[in-house]
Amino acid sequence: MCVGEPEFIKIMLSGTHFNYYMVCKRKLWLFANGINMEHVSDLVFEGKLIHEDSYPQRSSKYEEIELDGIKVDFYDPKRKVIHEIKKSNKVEAAHMWQLKYYIYVFERNGIDGVTGILEYPALRKTQEVVLSDMDREQIKEMEVDIQRIISDNSCPSLQKKGICKNCSYFDFCYIQEEEVG
Ligand code: SF4
Repeated sequence: MCVGEPEFIKIMLSGTHFNYYMVCKRKLWLFANGINMEHVSDLVFEGKLIHEDSYPQRSSKYEEIELDGIKVDFYDPKRKVIHEIKKSNKVEAAHMWQLKYYIYVFERNGIDGVTGILEYPALRKTQEVVLSDMDREQIKEMEVDIQRIISDNSCPSLQKKGICKNCSYFDFCYIQEEEVG
C-alpha cells in the first residue's frame, strides 16, 4: 500500500453504492456487506416490469453495458446518452448522483462526451444530467467516503427518517431497534 493511501480495503463500486450513499449511510453499509432483504428481489422485479412496460421497443436501439462495476440498461451509443429509468414518484438527488457516477465511469474507461437522462415514466418527466468538473472532484471524495463507510466493522446507527417506511431494510432496522429497546 502506498504512503498516504487510506488503509481500508477497496472494492469495485456500483451506481447503487452512490445512490444509497445519498439516501442513507446505514443502507449503504447493509447493502455493501451482503445483508439483503428478501423482498428486495420484488423491487428489482417491479423495476424490470417498468422498464419493459415503458420501453417495449427499445432493446434493439439501446445497448446494455457492464463496465467497472456498473451496469447500464439503456445506453444510446449513437448519441452517447445513458438513459436511467426510475419508478419513483419524485426526482431525487440520489438518482442524479447514480447517473453522474455512470458517466464518470464511462469517462474513466475512455468514453468521453457522455450525458445522461433520468426518466420517470410515472411522472411523465425527464431530467438531463451532465458531469461538471466540480462533480468529478466530488465523486472522487464520495468514492473515498463510501469505501471508508462500507469497510468499517460496525454498521452506522439507525437515523429515523421519513424514507425508512419505504425502505427494504425497514423491518430489519426497526425490529433490531425494538430488540435493543
Ligand atoms: S430503514 Fe431507514 S435507517 Fe434503515 S436502512 Fe432504511 S433508510 Fe436507513
